[in-house]
Amino acid sequence: MQTQMRRVSFAELRRLVAERLGEKAELLRGGWELIGDVLVLQLPEELFAYRYEIGRIALDFHPRARSVVVRRGIAHELRYPLAEVVAGDRNTLTLHKENRCLFRIDPCRVMFSSGNQGERLRMAQLDLSGERVVDMFAGIGQFTIPMAKHASPAKVVAVEKRRETFDFLCENVRLNRVEHIVEPVLGDCRVATPENFADRVVMGYFFSPERFLSTALRALRDGGVVHYHAIAAGEGIDAEGQKVVELAAELGYSARVRNRRIVKSYAPKRWHVVYDIEVR
Ligand code: SAM
Repeated sequence: MQTQMRRVSFAELRRLVAERLGEKAELLRGGWELIGDVLVLQLPEELFAYRYEIGRIALDFHPRARSVVVRRGIAHELRYPLAEVVAGDRNTLTLHKENRCLFRIDPCRVMFSSGNQGERLRMAQLDLSGERVVDMFAGIGQFTIPMAKHASPAKVVAVEKRRETFDFLCENVRLNRVEHIVEPVLGDCRVATPENFADRVVMGYFFSPERFLSTALRALRDGGVVHYHAIAAGEGIDAEGQKVVELAAELGYSARVRNRRIVKSYAPKRWHVVYDIEVR
């Protein structure tokens, strides 16, 4: 007898939800993220009252989900997820595997963005042979771990301000056996970033990142590259990069945008963009 393969697509989940909730299911548009074995859903306000029902449907449907979480957003500069388990196991600590990197993570406690996957891959593909890198907003190691594991840097100093996130970072350094490359540092990057040290700085934080540019520039030892993340409006992407160049000039550095890349859509007509700023 031939076994029928079940299609695991978001459209199929929406169809199943529609069987129970009718046309309200059309409001289900946010997509999902599978982080380890935790399925993270984003629901519009109108469907929030149905979250447990939708969670149960999603848990029955997705073959790899152990828990279903509804995330309403990420709050505060230290990126606390506003998340609730709506079905399945209430313990959401999980192991996420990507590009031969392991991430221990709890999506209800710390942030991990599936939308940044392309950028994580790009950072892994850089040739960092012999380079010293500072990751000023390391989180649980989303960029630090792929760089250390695949791009051969001499050293990565990974700075994270929030204690709980820092603990995950340290665990991920151990899990991926990159202790000899990565030095996790707990603290505010404006204080904890080493000066006159790096060939490359990653600024993976896009809320008013200009506040941190002077720290990034001082971290460079003899020029180098700053991966500057920002939010830009559709028509203002190049202007945003130019602003960084001008700000660097005001701070006494000669800089140019070597490359820019759209990481993901952030809101209607607004983009999360990374600018590779070459500094001399
Ligand atoms: N770089 C990762 C990425 O884009 O996937 C995740 C970073 S997350 C967006 C930003 C991280 O920076 C959070 O873990 C937050 O706690 C941390 N953070 C915020 N302000 C900071 C500061 N002033 N110094 C160091 N870390 C900070």
